[in-house]
Amino acid sequence: MASARMSAEGVRASAICGICGKKYDGLTYQVVVPVLRASFDKVECAEVALNKHLREARRPALEEALFSEVERLREQLRELPRRV
Ligand SMILES: [Zn+2]
Repeated sequence: MASARMSAEGVRASAICGICGKKYDGLTYQVVVPVLRASFDKVECAEVALNKHLREARRPALEEALFSEVERLREQLRELPRRV
């Protein structure tokens, strides 16, 4: 008999960072960047992605939006409850 038990927890919780390729638990912590429609495992990776996006875009309005996004991420990080 075939036992095909789905590991639902593992699937929905884990995500892979598009910058460093590290696997992280998206339920515990993630840095979400709505402008890029992406999320990352840490703020540094989000900044790398934003900067990369900036170089490709070269649009002042977008540049401004992305910089304020980074600021918002820093705020978000400070406000994070210290849960382990
Ligand atoms: Zn990363």
